[in-house]
Amino acid sequence: MTKLIHYRSKCIGCGICYEMQPEFWRMSRKDGKASLLRGVEKKGIFQREVKTDRQTCLEVAQACPVSVIKVVGG
Ligand code: SF4
Repeated sequence: MTKLIHYRSKCIGCGICYEMQPEFWRMSRKDGKASLLRGVEKKGIFQREVKTDRQTCLEVAQACPVSVIKVVGG
């Protein structure tokens, strides 16, 4: 199982994740940060399982300029 993890508080709102993978990300109109769609929050960290497109998730995680996206699992 692959999981996407978003350390949202440190997001700088650059929008790269949304541009690369709009099926998983939205930009918040409230605070300008990215939001992980269907992410479950625990202590400010959002997680969700991903069943498709793990490779793109890895590319998005690498592209995030502040490294607040992690991909775990296989
Ligand atoms: S790529 Fe990283 S810093 Fe940029 S909006 Fe997405 S989570 Fe935030």
